[in-house]
Amino acid sequence: MLLQRLRNIGASQVLTAPADTAPYLTDWRGRFTGRAQAVVLPATTGEVAAIVSACAEHRAPIVPQGGNTGLVGGATPDASGDAIVLSLKRLNRVREVDAINGTITVEAGCVLYDVQQAAHGAGRLFPLSLAAEGSATIGGNLSTNAGGTQVLRYGNARELALGLEVVLPSGEIWCGLRGLRKDNTGYDLRDLFIGAEGTLGVITAACLKTFPLPRAQVTALFALDAVAPALGLLALAQSAAGPTLTAFEFFSATCLQLVTRHFLDQRSPFERAHAQYVLLQLSDHEDEQHAAGLLQALAEQALDKRLIADAVIAQSAAQSHALWKLRELISEAQSREGKNIKHDISVPISSIARFIDETDALLSQLFPGVRMVTFGHLGDGNLHYNVSAPLDVAEERFFAHQPAIYECVHDQVTRFSGSISAEHGIGQLKRDENARYKSVVEMNLMRAIKRTLDPLNIMNPGKVV
Ligand code: FAD
Ligand code: ZN
Repeated sequence: MLLQRLRNIGASQVLTAPADTAPYLTDWRGRFTGRAQAVVLPATTGEVAAIVSACAEHRAPIVPQGGNTGLVGGATPDASGDAIVLSLKRLNRVREVDAINGTITVEAGCVLYDVQQAAHGAGRLFPLSLAAEGSATIGGNLSTNAGGTQVLRYGNARELALGLEVVLPSGEIWCGLRGLRKDNTGYDLRDLFIGAEGTLGVITAACLKTFPLPRAQVTALFALDAVAPALGLLALAQSAAGPTLTAFEFFSATCLQLVTRHFLDQRSPFERAHAQYVLLQLSDHEDEQHAAGLLQALAEQALDKRLIADAVIAQSAAQSHALWKLRELISEAQSREGKNIKHDISVPISSIARFIDETDALLSQLFPGVRMVTFGHLGDGNLHYNVSAPLDVAEERFFAHQPAIYECVHDQVTRFSGSISAEHGIGQLKRDENARYKSVVEMNLMRAIKRTLDPLNIMNPGKVV
């Protein structure tokens, strides 16, 4: 009955054949597979509202899905087969680009890369940038409050959103698509839905900030002997380059080794191996020469202060691209090496070196030979602190220790007043872990909000709270 009703809603497509629904029922990493009554693909906000109303009447759980690139199982239904997966893919129009207001208004199913291109076409920058940008959607980016490589300068998805249009669990449409930088007219409803991972409503459109396009971008890879000098380098770069500093990415020697081992066309630009590396980008509003001068001066000062051991400055866009490739291929190289235990953590930037040193030592003591593949957005205090099995230990045996490894790393994070999920969210993967680390007061507040907005508990149940 529900399916018949869904089929009658406008032009929305309803998929039920196993071959059609399969791609929507397993997450990107292949860690979670669920079942669903159907996958529904509406093309308008009105259709989304009608689908949600119908599901509410039938008490059918709704699992919103964008590009299905999430890393915590948030867009995958459970095994009951009761859910309706609501794919926003077809809701993908760019509604308006306003270069003067510095905004772009897009529908939730727009792919991030297409939004970047639409802004660029109007001479503007939409700065959200992550490796999954060719598939991830704006609705998913906002629902996970995605981060990526330019947060240091432009903020994460939350800071880039001015307004939202949301279909509430009741089926009502909240039109909060305001392109305002200032609006103090009550509670901030917009921010409730950002980072909610589809548990409070369906985001159908967003009004996003755009920025002037930089005139020049320059990139350097710095080699360091330890983690601690990276903090000195960050402070130096911030004071020398100010807002021109748009990326400060970090990776260890192990990461670079994995990339060159699994991608034979990749090689280190340095003659010898170093302990750590920082990839730094400046985006300049004067010109190439000014940008190159800034970067050269920064490298010289860093060498003088012995913060870095060596530096490679890209001399062309192609060289810059090649340096970025080394950073971007780390995740894929680690997957090719074998399954691994991922942590997406943040700690105060000032604590990063101590966190890494102490946690590396603890894990090595508990699990001798364990390999830490540590990389991430050091400028934001965010590390992908991933752990691979020792070379001589079978993966299954190593994975038996997963709960103990989570506990060790997350206890350390807590000791350093950090977060167990800096940018990927909670989904189903970290739901119980999150409840273990958050205070009762905080969990109760979140559950109270959930109950108020979604009294029937139909929006992505079993995720986050
Ligand atoms: P999905 O995976 O489809 O959904 C994610 C969550 O949002 C789910 O809970 C889903 O129910 C909910 N949702 C989706 N659309 C809506 C909507 N319209 N309304 C309400 N809820 C919705 N993340 C980062 O933050 N930084 C990175 O650097 C980064 N790099 C990545 C690199 C790779 C190779 C991969 C595979 C992933 C990476 N991610 C990163 C994770 C992922 O890309 C982000 O979480 C992204 O924002 C998810 O977008 P999506 O459209 O694929 O969402
Ligand atoms: Zn990341």
